[in-house]
Amino acid sequence: MPTLLWFRQDLRLADNPALAFALKGPDPVIPVYIHAPGEESPWAAGGASSWWLHHSLRALREDLRQRGSELILRSCADTGAELLNIASQTQADRIVWNRRYEPAAITRDARIKSMLRGEKLHCESFNGALLREPWEINTKSGGPYQVFTPFWRQCLSLADPAPPLPAPTSLPAPQRWPRSSSLEELNLLPRIAWATGIESAWTPGSHQAHALLQHFLRHALGGYPAARDRPDLDGTSRMSPYLHFGQISPREIWHALRAHAADNRIAGWRESRFLTEIGWREFAHHLLYHFPETPLQPLRAPFARFAWRNDAAALRAWQRGQTGYPIVDAGMRQLWKTGWMHNRVRMIVASFLVKDLMIPWQEGARWFWDTLVDADLASNTLGWQWSAGCGADAAPFFRIFNPVSQGQKFDAAGDYVRKFIPELSALSSDWIHAPWNAPPQLLQGAGIELGVSYPLPIVDHGAARKRALAALSALKNQTDS
Ligand SMILES: Cc1cc2nc3c(=O)[nH]c(=O)nc-3n(C[C@H](O)[C@H](O)[C@H](O)COP(=O)(O)OP(=O)(O)OC[C@H]3O[C@@H](n4cnc5c(N)ncnc54)[C@H](O)[C@@H]3O)c2cc1C
Repeated sequence: MPTLLWFRQDLRLADNPALAFALKGPDPVIPVYIHAPGEESPWAAGGASSWWLHHSLRALREDLRQRGSELILRSCADTGAELLNIASQTQADRIVWNRRYEPAAITRDARIKSMLRGEKLHCESFNGALLREPWEINTKSGGPYQVFTPFWRQCLSLADPAPPLPAPTSLPAPQRWPRSSSLEELNLLPRIAWATGIESAWTPGSHQAHALLQHFLRHALGGYPAARDRPDLDGTSRMSPYLHFGQISPREIWHALRAHAADNRIAGWRESRFLTEIGWREFAHHLLYHFPETPLQPLRAPFARFAWRNDAAALRAWQRGQTGYPIVDAGMRQLWKTGWMHNRVRMIVASFLVKDLMIPWQEGARWFWDTLVDADLASNTLGWQWSAGCGADAAPFFRIFNPVSQGQKFDAAGDYVRKFIPELSALSSDWIHAPWNAPPQLLQGAGIELGVSYPLPIVDHGAARKRALAALSALKNQTDS
């Protein structure tokens, strides 16, 4: 009898434990993907992620077809009922999948598992997304970690994760395939063509993930510790959307890094900066699993009473890259144009939103959710709570990034700003991060009219910093009294 292989955020054939389990016997395997955005609310995939998902499903279907199989697509409001429906149409007696860790997915999957088992179907789920399950790593007292370093130290003290499983060369097909929706019927692509920049920046799919990883290991790994902070360089791996959609697994990355280090006699790869960043992804999932309320609530409860401002015009200026601070605007335009933003700049724009503008971090998290191709509930929540000073192991609130000096330090020549803000492209590096300080004749020569061709700063950073610190002291006084 056939096995249903329920694909979710594990859109790959190699190192896919649910697929490997399904292939243990001779029985046919029916791969299915079920699109049920209503069940993911309020975190259904945003516009950029939906674009990624569309192209990823097409790539996965192609990989399956090359192995004599198919990808059955369905769109519905109730995944459990749809799985049961497909199982009864195909006489499948087993349903297998790889686990997800978002709170809504955990609740939904537990409900589906118990319902399917009640219908006498055999269900199994596996870890295909993390190096360690979030519940495997605990403090001495048995609770979750809230500080990264000891968390990662414990992960590294364990044996290497199992080597990745190879992709199968073929999948046994059923005698008849059940009905499938077309990919277009899932309506994942935007109705108006705003994704052209994303299209030219990315190729979703497992093959591309592996090609990019190999390119990174060969050409960028050595320089990564310094280059990872430089948005003007192509110094990071760009693995994030592929990891989010499971087109490459962290175990594959771990073992690729290990093999690369062995071939090139690189010592200390386990402690390398690159693997540590994969560790932050693990930590993000650990936190989301143990603190499922954190996508909306600060981990440090008093921050819920912070005197946030409601300023729709400032929020819109931030979203559109029109704040008048070039490094902030370049980041927000990179995000809009390419569906991705460099990590250093994510930290700068987040600090600017929550501290200079005092707009709630949840507004920023929501905008990132809609515009990032790598939008990931665990990593996005960690990133925003870290930036707002209200999360685990967070940057203290009083450390407020100065957008001018951050730009001067990490984009010294201004190349990143010039790439995304063409209005400023003729400005020399001396003034590019603070054009309002440039001599008027120089601005005129560069074709810039501040307030007309490029905005004046929407806030004065010095004054905004004081305002944010005053709000922090007021919060402390409230909490202490
Ligand atoms: C405000 C904010 C929001 C963020 N939102 C997301 C998000 O929605 N999705 C997402 O994947 N990352 C998010 N990050 C983390 C980080 O910015 C991205 O993972 C990174 O920029 C992706 O680029 P890369 O793949 O080239 O990273 P690399 O530097 O090559 O790192 C390799 C991998 O390590 C992981 N990683 C690196 N840094 C972090 C981190 N700080 N937290 C968690 N994992 C990390 C990612 O999976 C990444 O692909 C956010 C960071 C901030 C400050």
